[in-house]
Amino acid sequence: MIYTDNAATTPLSAAAAKAVSDCMMNVYGNPSSLHSIGQKAAEVLFEARQTIAQCLNCQPREIYFTSGGSEADNQAIRSAAHAGKKKGKTHIISTAFEHHAVLHTLERLQKDEGFEVQLLDVDENGLITAQQVADAIREDTCLVTVMFANNEIGSVLPIREIGEVCRAKGVTFHTDAVQAAGHLPIDVQKDNIDMLSLSGHKFHGPKGVGVLFVRKGIVLENLIDGGAQERGKRAGTENIPGIVGMAAALEEACGEMQEVSEQERAIRDRIIEGLSKIPHSMLNGDREKRLPGNVSFCFEGIEGESLLLMLDEKGICASSGSACTSGSLDPSHVLLAIGRIHEIAHGSLRLSLSKYNTMEQAEYIIETVPQVVEYLRSFSPLWKDKINGKKEFILK
Ligand SMILES: *Cc1c(COP(=O)(O)O)cnc(C)c1O
Repeated sequence: MIYTDNAATTPLSAAAAKAVSDCMMNVYGNPSSLHSIGQKAAEVLFEARQTIAQCLNCQPREIYFTSGGSEADNQAIRSAAHAGKKKGKTHIISTAFEHHAVLHTLERLQKDEGFEVQLLDVDENGLITAQQVADAIREDTCLVTVMFANNEIGSVLPIREIGEVCRAKGVTFHTDAVQAAGHLPIDVQKDNIDMLSLSGHKFHGPKGVGVLFVRKGIVLENLIDGGAQERGKRAGTENIPGIVGMAAALEEACGEMQEVSEQERAIRDRIIEGLSKIPHSMLNGDREKRLPGNVSFCFEGIEGESLLLMLDEKGICASSGSACTSGSLDPSHVLLAIGRIHEIAHGSLRLSLSKYNTMEQAEYIIETVPQVVEYLRSFSPLWKDKINGKKEFILK
């Protein structure tokens, strides 16, 4: 099988697997215990915090461990929103194509707590500008939350410039960097980031563990009350094997980022070149400002779900929209946000690569996908109408 669904989740790397299992076997203490077995656990926990802080260029005490990207997004957004409300600031700026962990949290704040959420329009390449953010910021803006890179179409946003705008206007800036961490260089100082979410399983670490970076001085609210873990901001005995595995994975990913991203880019570009030859198709997302491992296309006249099932039969694991929306019949909110109409958005394909993909696999993909698209079109009544000139083609 060829696995090209790494934006949904990645396989564990050997280094991360070893770190997890060594820890599970040998470090079973509770870091809150005062005896030596507990203190051993506290030590590995601190080392993991240090490693992650180094990768992001922040202080270890600015790192909070969570159960994943979703929890980190929730905690960051709710904290900044509630801190703002205390000062009478209830305006939040975000974008229309964020992950649901962000969008649904914002929806809830709007519905239940009276916040005003302004979602910036995304252009047809899946980008927004820092100027759009600058124009949207008001006296009562308490938070700007914009993703580092989009999980469906791979566009990479101008985070440093957006951070600069927020810094100059004194507005807290959060970024969901789940797709970027371990894949693109991140420096929370240079990038002017106040809060950042990442998730272990998107860079070959374990599932169910993530990080929220919170700049010193920003008030964090806890979602889970209980013990004093994570400096009182996230109760519950720490997931030590998960945290240690995530730190090992992030350190490895940051160490080999240059090489891996070059290899991924070459494979990505070969696949984009190959699939662009399919008539009436279109690349989604910016051609240049793009995650090294993301390929996203819309094909006119087919259903994404049928394409995925047939590709699976041919040994290719891919996805249409995001893993979270697939299974529902609604077209992806991301594709709608960049202006794809429903009919076109339904025929989408996302191939997301990792360091384990090869050029040989790319060749198989660009041989197989066009055949499957052609086969599915041959059964489509809609396609027949277009061929016969009864309906217009939408894509070139
Ligand atoms: C996967 C993902 C998340 C959710 O992370 P989990 O660890 O699965 O909760 C959030 N945002 C983006 C952009 C993602 O790709």
